[in-house]
Amino acid sequence: MSITALIAVDVQADFLPGGLLAVPSGDLVVAPLQALAQRFPLVVATRDFHPAHHASFEAQGGPWPPHCVIGTPGARLHPAIDALAWLVISKGTDPAVDAYSGFDGTRLAEMLRAVGVHRLVIGGLATDYCVRATALAAQKEGFETAVVLDAIRAVDVHAGDGEQTLQEMRSAGISLQTLAEMAAEDTR
Ligand code: ZN
Repeated sequence: MSITALIAVDVQADFLPGGLLAVPSGDLVVAPLQALAQRFPLVVATRDFHPAHHASFEAQGGPWPPHCVIGTPGARLHPAIDALAWLVISKGTDPAVDAYSGFDGTRLAEMLRAVGVHRLVIGGLATDYCVRATALAAQKEGFETAVVLDAIRAVDVHAGDGEQTLQEMRSAGISLQTLAEMAAEDTR
């Protein structure tokens, strides 16, 4: 039997509008992820979960303002995603090491294999960072990997980053589909 899991990447308060590192229109990924969870109820939520003086923060010489600090409201998953999650994967918990991928420094791949998952459907935030890294790692780990275009949003630090990331993922063999395309495929 083939099992598909849905990975909701970093749908956390700090990446949503009003957060410390908000992704433009980041909240628009929530409804598509909820729709996907109806079809793929095995939901894994990843979260950035950083100690207070994490290496990725500007004060430590990193590229980002402080975000998703353990114990702060900004680290919380969106409640709708939290309510769906079968498994929550914390990443970037080592003060000295950053992790964009949910597979980086975690046992996610082993846990998914242990329950028979062979296909991953991925959405969340942000296209050009943690969605990118998680999808590329999933593909590399041997999972059949799809990214849902309606369920992701980009940071676009440099204009076009999001678009370029889509090309990169496509070149890596990752399937990029809209919700509608995915629904059509599944009822075939
Ligand atoms: Zn981070």
